[in-house]
Amino acid sequence: MPDYIDVTLPLRPDMPFWPDSTGLHISAVKRMKSGGVCNLSALTIDLHAGTHVDAPWHYVDSGTKTETLSIDRMVGPCYVADMQGIAEVTAAALQGAAIPAGTTRLLLRTSNSQFWKNSEPSFRKDFVGLSADGARWLVEHKIELIGMDYLSIGPFGRSADTHKIVLGAGIVAVEGLYLADISPGWYELICLPIRLVGAEGAPARVLLRRIAKS
Ligand SMILES: [Zn+2]
Repeated sequence: MPDYIDVTLPLRPDMPFWPDSTGLHISAVKRMKSGGVCNLSALTIDLHAGTHVDAPWHYVDSGTKTETLSIDRMVGPCYVADMQGIAEVTAAALQGAAIPAGTTRLLLRTSNSQFWKNSEPSFRKDFVGLSADGARWLVEHKIELIGMDYLSIGPFGRSADTHKIVLGAGIVAVEGLYLADISPGWYELICLPIRLVGAEGAPARVLLRRIAKS
């Protein structure tokens, strides 16, 4: 029966973050070893740490926030395309990736997943991103959700254009996926960001399960 694969990065204070990130901190509120009645902690987190979704407001100031993200978009069949060895996900690269017609949820496994697999300790500026023309390809092909395997969908230093095109079209962006063990093909996607109100991003738990689909 169901073999769900967890493609969520473990959230931990010593994981790589975006260069100016406030990171992730778990602080002790109460500790039993210090006389507390229980153990209680507080979490401070950059909402774009680890595996997370972006809401339109992240790059579109008139855009909607996390509470409007549609569960229907984040749960259902998705296609995982193999983009390993590609330096940048352009429109031409997407065109050549044999993405089945009718795909609405698309995850891109790039060489980035190897950074996580190798437990690279620091942020990598040379990660593979989606170019602006690649972003327009997604809009033209009616993609509703795009998932990638580093901390931004857009290339480092050119991230804004990609985000504006993707988020401006209402496409849900899932970032920080761990796809190193995922072969191309069809999966059931379950992407559940925390139900946060009034924010531009939210940490998510993301699962895949292989399905047969023509
Ligand atoms: Zn983000």
